[in-house]
Amino acid sequence: MKYIFVTGGVVSSLGKGLAAASLGTLLEYRGFKVIMQKFDPYLNIDPGTMNPYEHGEVYVLDDGAETDLDLGHYERFTHTNLSRLNNLTSGQVYSTVIEKERAGKYQGSTVQVIPHVTNEIKARIDEVALKMGGDIIITEIGGTVGDIEGLPFLEAIRQFGHDKPPGDVLYIHTTLVPYLRAAGELKTKPTQQSIAKLREIGIGPHIILARTEMALDQDVRHKISLFCNVPIENVIEARDVKNTIYEVPLKLHEERLDDRVCKLLGLERRDPDLTTWRSFVNRVIHPTHHVRIGVVGKYIELQDAYKSIYEALTHAGAATDCKVDIVRVDAEAIEKAGPDLYLMGLQGILIPGGFGDRGTEGKIMAARYAREKGIPFFGICLGMQIAVIEFARNVAGLEGANSTEFDKVGPHPVISLMEEQKKVINMGGTMRLGTWVTDLVPGSRAYGLYQSATITERHRHRYEFNSAYKEQLEAHGLVVSGMSPNGELAEIVELPSHPYFIACQFHPEFLSKPNHPHVLFHGFVKAAMNQHGTPPVSC
Ligand code: GLN
Repeated sequence: MKYIFVTGGVVSSLGKGLAAASLGTLLEYRGFKVIMQKFDPYLNIDPGTMNPYEHGEVYVLDDGAETDLDLGHYERFTHTNLSRLNNLTSGQVYSTVIEKERAGKYQGSTVQVIPHVTNEIKARIDEVALKMGGDIIITEIGGTVGDIEGLPFLEAIRQFGHDKPPGDVLYIHTTLVPYLRAAGELKTKPTQQSIAKLREIGIGPHIILARTEMALDQDVRHKISLFCNVPIENVIEARDVKNTIYEVPLKLHEERLDDRVCKLLGLERRDPDLTTWRSFVNRVIHPTHHVRIGVVGKYIELQDAYKSIYEALTHAGAATDCKVDIVRVDAEAIEKAGPDLYLMGLQGILIPGGFGDRGTEGKIMAARYAREKGIPFFGICLGMQIAVIEFARNVAGLEGANSTEFDKVGPHPVISLMEEQKKVINMGGTMRLGTWVTDLVPGSRAYGLYQSATITERHRHRYEFNSAYKEQLEAHGLVVSGMSPNGELAEIVELPSHPYFIACQFHPEFLSKPNHPHVLFHGFVKAAMNQHGTPPVSC
């Protein structure tokens, strides 16, 4: 097993996660089995309790772990099979250490950051390596070098390099090389200082990934090489990509990052065949058609809040030779100005997941607009609950229908708290999470799309379609086309009379991959393309 650690300096949001994932892609295409993991220095046990404004999307794994959105990049860019072991936070580390201390496991010693906390971190790397097996494990350290809370992780990975045989451990440091317009120059000082900070801790990086908006010329590379003490060929340009994040592996390959990594780790230097990745990227960059799809949400101004949904739309677009122009619509704006202003002319409307009642009435207006105007509609999690509420109110005549999440005493709780949730007290990790099986109804649109009688999908919710209303709503034309195997939970609803109206209680966006778009997204984008004739890209 070889170990690669990816750290970041100068500023956050450098794209460390994407860089780590892209290196994973390249090493996989070279035929290695790669494992990816992320260490996050914050004290939450996981990001599940965090506000999307704090953290962006919470990415859910098969085993129900609520994790950092970088794990989404890892799953989309590689075949690594992730579980809760692959995302370690300071919160988890400290709670394990304290549990062990209370259990008397430290046999009378003073419990300290070094060695107890650092040992716990090192043990996780070995545990993942042992359980998952493979050739290379890439560990991304969240945060920025210089952050106080990141120190135990950096100390742990320093020690890890010391513990393993020389040549088995590689440190890659991602930095920013800003372009100062007034001076007309790329500046290397922040990189030098960031490396100096890392050296203070005892880590001398082998490779520097320099994020930049301009090409790094030889002079700049030479400066970084000299002052940061890395050979010039290990100064890798990580230039902003123009079109899509899926170009990043190709750019890093042009910069020979994978070749350098293999050389330094003593791995066989086979040439990767990137044809399938390249052809996907080409389809993303050069589509023949385009569609405009509105995503009606609550955290719409935040780029990262619906990350996996945006990616899944890109995958589906690439599979249909079509660019998906995502129009972000704020649900509260619809409440104020009505749906026409924001939704007219869209070829598809998607309502993503969410929590709390802000903006829900706007989402209900959007679902009604899509249903009545025959615009392809896709509801995900809260989006399905919204579709059911709208149908109950405006088709089945159940005035005041709502979810008990937003209205505890309304006359028609068509969405209500799941039975098993009623006794839940703690907020963290207690939703219905992870992979569950759904049985599909033969003859339904969902069945036709999946081509299967049973499916598995990832979930994250507490509320659910209230089955007391199932018969009544079905009598008005709503079809429940997916149910949990015990027949208790409605997982998919659809309207057969509509060009495409599907909503699911689970999160299909977490299973979409670049060359394997999720069938529900694929069906949605195809239906959107057929809407009023799709204009070619040039118009
Ligand atoms: N708030 C809703 C629930 O808990 C929907 C959750 C979601 O969209 N992820 O059931």
